[in-house]
Amino acid sequence: MTTPWGLPDFDAHEDVHFFTDEKSGLKAIIAIHSTHLGPAGGGARFWHYAQGDDALTDVLRLSRGMSYKNAMAGLPLGGGKSVILADEDRTKTPEMLHAFGRAVEALGGRYVTAEDVGMNVADMIEIARSTKYVAGLPNSGGDVGGDPGPHTSLGVFLGIKAAVKWALGKSNLGGLHIALQGAGSVATGVALHACAEGAKLSIADVDQAKAQKLADRSGGKVVSPEAILELEADVLSPCALGAVLTETSIPKLRVPVIAGGANNQLATPADGERLHARDILYAPDYVINAGGIINVCTEYLGDGDASLVRRRIEGIPARLEQIWSEGAETGRDPAAVADAMAQRLIGRA
Ligand code: NAD
Repeated sequence: MTTPWGLPDFDAHEDVHFFTDEKSGLKAIIAIHSTHLGPAGGGARFWHYAQGDDALTDVLRLSRGMSYKNAMAGLPLGGGKSVILADEDRTKTPEMLHAFGRAVEALGGRYVTAEDVGMNVADMIEIARSTKYVAGLPNSGGDVGGDPGPHTSLGVFLGIKAAVKWALGKSNLGGLHIALQGAGSVATGVALHACAEGAKLSIADVDQAKAQKLADRSGGKVVSPEAILELEADVLSPCALGAVLTETSIPKLRVPVIAGGANNQLATPADGERLHARDILYAPDYVINAGGIINVCTEYLGDGDASLVRRRIEGIPARLEQIWSEGAETGRDPAAVADAMAQRLIGRA
């Protein structure tokens, strides 16, 4: 089958923009998947890609995921995402961030940026020097804003609890074993919430020191990045990068539940079916990890306070249960059920 523009991950994206700024060295792509429900909201990823094509694939998949995520979270936002192509040494300068801000500004509000992997609140402050279409800025007197990570972590934690209740009939995480992939911003919050409820954690990160630090804080133990996906546990929580659930990794999984914060955990839609065939309950990533964008959206639109953010995040388990319940009725895997629901919401059924 031929795909539009020869890109398998192109999904009728409204527009895709390539930016270069020679002076600062910025190379970035902004992909706008849909503005059906509002301006395209989604973070900026700062990452070193082995090839330019990988960056394009990533931004196309991530931006579609944002359309689905924002729609399923009931937010008045469309879906978009950006990637900044880092050098091998990952040099990031204020000039580069200002140039990126100008690129965002040039889109006139069709795209609103915020933090993603490799970006932090200080970076958003720099970007905000050249665009108003940015969120994830420090709380300025109000009580929403700042790093979306802790909000994402809270939603993922509540989603893990919902999954454990659905699949294992347990109403809390006490004594359960969680295999956590990643020890970054999202994983840290998940680990701290889970250990406060008595969960036992195994933690892996390619940055061994980060994994150790989180293990020390959460009473967990460090395992190697190679071992984490094959660990016997009650829950696998992928909180690092995407495409970890594949034709190769799924047969080796030894967990009844997968619930984590990473975007695009399934390498392909067939991997959702593979999990289903193995009777492994999957929490669709863009539903369980919407806490950060919920906070970003409330900050950007200025339409509520921290209690609204909390209420919206507390709605995540109910949405997951709706998906699992429809899956149980129809025999379809949860990822496919969620995709169909999201497509209806963005007018692409
Ligand atoms: P982060 O950069 O703080 O942490 C990611 C961590 O993953 C890093 O410590 C990195 O070393 C580690 N890592 C990378 N490859 C790995 C591998 N193969 N095995 C083990 N560890 C590996 O990023 P984050 O903000 O915590 O985001 C984590 C994931 O959650 C990403 O997929 C991101 O897109 C997604 N997400 C984040 C948010 C948010 O609010 N930050 C919101 C929604 C989704």
